Amino acid sequence: MTALFGKRIFVATILSMLALCAGKGVEAQSPQGPIRVEVDESRAPQKIMHTHLEMPVQPGPLTLYYPEWIPGEHMPDGPIIDMAGLKFTCNGKTIAWRRDLIDMFAFHLDIPQDASSLDIDFDFLLSAPASGYSAGASATAFLNLVSWNQVVLYPKGYDAANITCIPSLKLPSGWKFGTALPGPKQSGDTIEFAPVSLETLIDSPVITGRYFRKVELTPGQAPLHEMDIAADNPADLAMLPETEGHFQRLIAEAYALFGSRHYRDYHFLLTLSDNVAHFGLEHHESSDDRTRERSLIDEPTRIGFAGLLPHEYVHSWNGKYRRPADLLSPDYHQPMKDDLLWVYEGLTEYLGSTVLTARSGLWNQQQTREEIARVAAMLDNEPGRRWRPLQDTADSAVFLYDAATEWGNWRRGTDFYEEGIYLWLDVDDTIRRMTKDQESINDFCRLFHGGTSGEPDLKPYTFEDVVAALNQIVPYDWASFLRSRLDSTAPNTMNESIENSGWKLVYDDKPNEMIENRDAIRRKINLALSIGLQLTDDGAVEDVIYGGPSYKAGMGPGMKITAVNGKQFSRDTILEAVEAAKSTAGPIQLIVANGPDVQTYSADYHGGFRYPHLVRDESKPDYLSEILKPQAPR
Ligand SMILES: [Zn+2]
Repeated sequence: MTALFGKRIFVATILSMLALCAGKGVEAQSPQGPIRVEVDESRAPQKIMHTHLEMPVQPGPLTLYYPEWIPGEHMPDGPIIDMAGLKFTCNGKTIAWRRDLIDMFAFHLDIPQDASSLDIDFDFLLSAPASGYSAGASATAFLNLVSWNQVVLYPKGYDAANITCIPSLKLPSGWKFGTALPGPKQSGDTIEFAPVSLETLIDSPVITGRYFRKVELTPGQAPLHEMDIAADNPADLAMLPETEGHFQRLIAEAYALFGSRHYRDYHFLLTLSDNVAHFGLEHHESSDDRTRERSLIDEPTRIGFAGLLPHEYVHSWNGKYRRPADLLSPDYHQPMKDDLLWVYEGLTEYLGSTVLTARSGLWNQQQTREEIARVAAMLDNEPGRRWRPLQDTADSAVFLYDAATEWGNWRRGTDFYEEGIYLWLDVDDTIRRMTKDQESINDFCRLFHGGTSGEPDLKPYTFEDVVAALNQIVPYDWASFLRSRLDSTAPNTMNESIENSGWKLVYDDKPNEMIENRDAIRRKINLALSIGLQLTDDGAVEDVIYGGPSYKAGMGPGMKITAVNGKQFSRDTILEAVEAAKSTAGPIQLIVANGPDVQTYSADYHGGFRYPHLVRDESKPDYLSEILKPQAPR
């Protein structure tokens, strides 16, 4: 085990000597062998887990870190507030500790002279509210997703790749599990895994549950591709054969796109529950995908979540194998810089949530076009694009991820996801046009994300590397192409990309299929494109479009509409009022509660419903249909 640390100890020693010269404190300790990580989640339904760590140590001062910068979450949101009952012991004696006053994720302690091993115990308090990311609700009565970053401490001064861990996990009685962690050996309800680096451990969560199903997507072939599904209701584990077929196609289409795979095997860890946070978190050999109940059996819900697995899967290449150099935090302590998230997330949104979702059949071409129109219209009508450049949505992602939804249209959110679709569609259009259809973004992916298949690997990149790879596909001023879209305010990127792909964004009064589907699943009424309101089904105002008709009427988020044109509020009354206003001169009258105050607001809007769609422009080649067509051999 010491061999694993050899190189690192040398670097650490040099750093310690430099620190000594600078008059700073020196970390005398170095890990002497693997850390045992024993996690007991048998009380997960009670929303609490226990962790016991055994760490080889040397006498003297020791600093331990709790993981702060969580890979894939792009911010310092390690849930340190949910540690409780922290206790350090050497040879059965309790050791005092003190938190660093500046560096809140660091704990200082002094190891006694006779000690060679440190025992660490603490509980992790599982969050109850179903919001947030991996620190959000993860456990229900019947399932839990174990994220190892929540249940470890590790010594300062080492890259996670060079610290060896021996993990084990005790499940609630009778529960099953799925993970990309190698070498699981089960004995009763306890599973011992093979030794792995701390980096691999934190990159390999474990899904556990009472109602559990494994689905092999490439049966009889190597590498293994598996869906490990845990659900609150056993009936939700069913999957229509055609849906399973689409996920099988996803594996084939991703391979056709990238030409190689940088994992030993791949696990989709899929949680189906209305009681957990809903999001996806990418890992190199797995993804933590959490979505609604019935997502595999109810067609509107399935359509609503269709882009999630393709997005997280693409991250195995774009995000894990190729990662912006600025995002590397080898010890979860060094800050990440988010400036290249328009590649990391933006290209993934294009390739995963759009192109591969269509190529695998999870959406048909019409649904994909409706989604492209929906997102383009949302951005096209977002006033925040007039002051905050796209680049700044990435640069400030650390706080935009947690920003409130209220005034989101004026503040702007993490638009490098959605706007990334059009930025990279325009890259794809441009390559196709300049090479007369000889090359496309598929060739860029094979060059940039391809290489030899096998064990997980990491190749960091810079902005210049992206430009150089694009230039290898077709020489062009790619730096200016990208910078003009990233640095200017209100660029016409969505419309131009759609037009360059042979289609046009139009608005009419026929409902957009994907907007309707989203509203139905989420119980929302999206009138952002007409009277400038986003409502829940019961009239609560979630957002008001800055500068729109309702804004001008004096409305703001947090209000609640109780009546429309003299009738009690309902989905139908507000929709009827917008339609009727087309042929009347007077404003739409809304009776609205604002906390203790109730007033009538007059929204002067007569434009009727505006729904976005794509229509074909016959004067141009149809790149979009070509882009969305399956590529893999059948
Ligand atoms: Zn992502």
